[in-house]
Order: sequence, then structure tokens, then C-alpha cells
Amino acid sequence: MDRPQGEPPDRPLGMLAELTYRCPLRCAYCSNPVALDAYADELSLADWCRVLTEARELGVLQVHFSGGEPLLRGDLTAIVAHAHALGLYTGLVTGGQALTAARLTALAAAGLDHVQISVQSADAPEADTIAGRPAHRRKLAAAALVKEAGLPLTLNAVLHRATIGRAGALIELAERLGADRLELANAQYYGWALLNRRALLPTREQLAAVEPVIRAARERLAGRLEIVYVVADLYEGVPKPCMHGWGSRQLTVTPNGDVLPCPAAAQIPGLGVVNVARARLADIWFDSPAFNRFRGTGWMREPCRSCARKEIDHGGCRCQAFQLTGDASATDPVCALSPHHAALAEAVRADTARAADATPLVPRTDTRTRIRVRHRKRPGAGTGAGTSGGADGGTGNGVPDGAEAQEKTTS
Ligand code: SF4
Ligand code: SF4
Repeated sequence: MDRPQGEPPDRPLGMLAELTYRCPLRCAYCSNPVALDAYADELSLADWCRVLTEARELGVLQVHFSGGEPLLRGDLTAIVAHAHALGLYTGLVTGGQALTAARLTALAAAGLDHVQISVQSADAPEADTIAGRPAHRRKLAAAALVKEAGLPLTLNAVLHRATIGRAGALIELAERLGADRLELANAQYYGWALLNRRALLPTREQLAAVEPVIRAARERLAGRLEIVYVVADLYEGVPKPCMHGWGSRQLTVTPNGDVLPCPAAAQIPGLGVVNVARARLADIWFDSPAFNRFRGTGWMREPCRSCARKEIDHGGCRCQAFQLTGDASATDPVCALSPHHAALAEAVRADTARAADATPLVPRTDTRTRIRVRHRKRPGAGTGAGTSGGADGGTGNGVPDGAEAQEKTTS
């Protein structure tokens, strides 16, 4: 690995620790990779403790444990305890299915600082249909446990064509549950969401209708419930400032130990992703090809190179540029200045012109993937785990409980 000339990059502030891609639910908007075979070997407890220690030494202040469903790791409490002992702020991003009172008590005692629970809808039958199993009732019970434990609670919901019209009901649900924060996140089109884009994309009319609902709720609930709205950037004309810049503030460690600049970056071929079995986290952050490939502005071509916004939006999302153009160094086609923007706008128009029920959703499935936890050796000990060129995302897709990456939104 070679360190480029010039000023060293800033140190990261946050880490997304994707403990497992296993999940009991089947959300069609899941941002986990469609192909999970590359993640069959999960890091062990000892691996995660070392990674967390190295993250803290590197400057990371907060870590969010996500997946998949992180509660499927039986050693989650020990992982949280280690992170807490290092002085890290810890968050759990979960679908809530296995969150019992005893489990939460143990996690809180271990130092867990925050819990984010995903809901698929405010309507139980619809939520269970989207989740692929009866899950909603347990989610509500899990949210109540978090409140009883006195931990801050974020509710996360992914908005798409079937649910965006009932954002008001999600706000009421968050109020009823006493949530401190509500994330209403339009689906981000990676992983299964990309596969299902045609069925998930909301119409322009739906997006226009939801914005006043959210504005009014923010005014009414100011000081009681923070409402975060993640826009549907495919309609925007201006790209999102993705990750605040590539390799700038955040890093993601996947279940098998690959270290990524963003949760969806594994899909970009030839990126030079390095696994924690091969190098220390600081060396990966500062010197790996994957982190240096799109740092700063030197990699940009026109129209970004001479654009006044290049330090603001960083040319948009590299993963989205790759998905939509086949070239990760292209201007994000969401940008109205991109030569691919007109084609994207036409594709979005064609997708949303179809009746919602004309395109069936493909639920997430990972039944063909057998995932096991394997103990790995320390860096330099020759595990043969090797440098990954990046997982193949199947559809050309690639997260945090965002929803949950979405639920990072993924869990
Ligand atoms: S041309 Fe590039 S830098 Fe300028 S607004 Fe578009 S994506 Fe951003
Ligand atoms: S979005 Fe989250 S809860 Fe749904 S299948 Fe993916 S990881 Fe599981």
C-alpha cells in the first residue's frame, strides 16, 4: 500500500460495524449485498475487539453495530462492552426481533448508548408483509423495552411507493412509542433496493405530498421528536454529498472484515479493498487503494473538475455513479450537469409510470448462503484471506439499519 503525496487525510470519526448479514426479515429494499457468499466467514469476537481497539487508536469516536441483524451475534454484548471500555459511543441498529428484556439489560450494562429500531410501516399487516414474516408486534415491544431501559430511541422507516403516503402514521407511531428521533428515509437504491427499484420508486406527486406533512410535524413536535427526512435523490438534480467525501469521516467494516469507504462500495470492481486480516485499520484508512481512489478532488473529470460545488457534494455518490454508468469515476447522474442525467430522468419517469402492482417486489433471501463464524489469525500471520477486489453485488448493487443503512440504515 502506498501513501499518496501531500497532506495526510483526516482521521475518521465514525465506524459502521456490520457484524453479520444474516437477518430473519426479508425486506425488498434491504441494502445488504444481493450475493452474500463472499461474507460466509464472519469475524470472531477476538477479531472485532482488535478492530475496535485499532479504530479507537485511529481516532474513531462512535461505532454503530449493524447488519443484517446484529442481535444474531451471540457475542454482541461482549463486543459492545469492549467498545465501551475503549471510550467509544455505541449504537445498535436492529430490527428488534430478538431484543428481550434480559438481552437489553445486559447490553445496557455493557455500555450500549443508543438503539435504532426499524419499522416497515405503521400498519401491522402491511409491515409484516414487507418484512416477510410477523415482525411488527415484536418491534413495538422492543421499542417499549428501550424506553423502559432509559436509552435513547431512534425509529427508522424506509419510505417507498407503497408506504410514503402514510408517513403521517409513522410520525404518530414514533410519538406513541416515545421515540427521541425518527428517520424517514426514502429508499437508497443499493442491494435489494436496486433490484426492486421499479416497484419501489415513489412518484413525484407522492414526494410533493409528503414534504408538507413532514414540515408540519417538525414544527408541531419541535423539542420533543427530531424528524430526519432523507430525500429521494434520484429526483433532485443535485447529488447528495455522499459520506461527506470519500474516505473523509467514516469507514465500514463488513462481516468478513473487508474495510470500505462506504457500505455499498464493495460492488465497485478493482477498488483494492483490504481486509482486517491483512493490515491494521490505520494502514487501511491512510494507505489502501480503496480509500485513496476517490479522496479529495484530484480524481474528478469534467464537469466536476471545474464546478463550484465540487467541495460541497464531492461529485455525488461513487457507487451510484458506478451502478448507473458502469464508471465509478463518472459524475453522479443525479447531477443535472452529468451527461447521463437525461437518461436517468427518463428511466425514473418510465419506472414510475407503471402501476404499482405491475411490478412484484422480490423479497430479500439468503437461504442459499451458509454463514459461519470462523476464528481468524492476526494481521501478518498469513491467513490467506487476502485483499479483496470487492464483493460482487449481483445486480451491481452493494448497507445501516441505514435503513437500516438504508437503516444504516439496514437491519
Ligand atoms: S458537476 Fe460534479 S461537483 Fe458540480 S454539482 Fe454536479 S456532481 Fe457536483
Ligand atoms: S432491511 Fe434490515 S431488517 Fe430488512 S432484511 Fe435488510 S437487514 Fe433485515
